[in-house]
Amino acid sequence: MENFTENRENLDDVSGGAATGAEEAGKTGGSTLIIGGKVFGDLDAGALKRGNPLLADDVLVTGIAADGFVRFTAAESTATCEKARIIHGTSALATAALGRALTAAALLSSQLKNETDSVSIQINGKGPLGKIVTISDVKARVRGYVANPKAELPLRVSDGKIDVAAGVGKGFLQIIKDLSLKEPYIGTSALVSGEIAEDLTYYFAASEQVPSSVALGVRIGPDPDGKEPFRVEKAGGFIIQLMPGAPDSLIDDLEKRIGGMPSVTTLLAAGATATDIVKDIFKGYSPEIQSSHWFGYVCGCSRGRMQAALAAVGRKELTEIYEDGHGAELCCNFCNKKYFFSTEEIGEMLARPPAKPEGTGEEPDGGTAES
Ligand SMILES: [Zn+2]
Repeated sequence: MENFTENRENLDDVSGGAATGAEEAGKTGGSTLIIGGKVFGDLDAGALKRGNPLLADDVLVTGIAADGFVRFTAAESTATCEKARIIHGTSALATAALGRALTAAALLSSQLKNETDSVSIQINGKGPLGKIVTISDVKARVRGYVANPKAELPLRVSDGKIDVAAGVGKGFLQIIKDLSLKEPYIGTSALVSGEIAEDLTYYFAASEQVPSSVALGVRIGPDPDGKEPFRVEKAGGFIIQLMPGAPDSLIDDLEKRIGGMPSVTTLLAAGATATDIVKDIFKGYSPEIQSSHWFGYVCGCSRGRMQAALAAVGRKELTEIYEDGHGAELCCNFCNKKYFFSTEEIGEMLARPPAKPEGTGEEPDGGTAES
């Protein structure tokens, strides 16, 4: 079983893909999502009907196969990764790395149950990208950031692809699952490659003792409108996990099938859906789709939450900011939205420390204060 670590590395490429650009541009939908003055994607009527009006048009599917010996989750995450690129103004390298980590967070959301649960992936590498953090809730509302969004490296000489491994560097990976219990579950493992999919495969084996196959891919191509240096053309991935007692023949066969597959982004670019991809992998093993829903990049920050983050700097610091008389600006790390608190408001906070807002099971949104 330990051999079941095959995964799809090096999925990024920088190929042209004009055909897929036309396909994306030609998409029609109900309403348009506009972020930061930029028009972004369409919300189609289906997404609205499914009760997910906030979100873009990515799809997450989960299911089982081979008499329940296999659980799978697959995602097309193109819109999520493109939204991350727009929000953070990421370089090609950072787009690929953050996109993979966001896709992984969406995939891991299938392991959550309650409305208040969340899962966070923290990639602490020593490479030029710095720390990468992504978070998902049970509905795969994902968000994330990378410490150095502009970091860039030359394409890898060996295969001409984006060198995510070098961008991430050596270090460790943490998965934090807040399952609405007293304490969050925290698992840690070494970064064995920096390509993220391989690192997660290793994490599942080392930290959770679950043989897994993880694929994550972000394909970057030219902007059809020529306004942006590039855009995310296709992104997606899957996590396949074996349950205890899975027969060796099944493991061998899946290794062969997955090893011989084109990359997820190649399949998506050819018109396959996330469902098509898993159905194809498990052909003959009675794959059963158990859920399929829309998801996207959503930040849940609010003035109240940011005020709580500001209060958390401590009374002494807050008093200094008050006395400084310039107020405080906090920027949400996940969506770059800025929140300004005036000296008067800070004075009120000092006079009457605010009660903790509801749902603080999650860390504050990592706002950074500037006075
Ligand atoms: Zn935010």
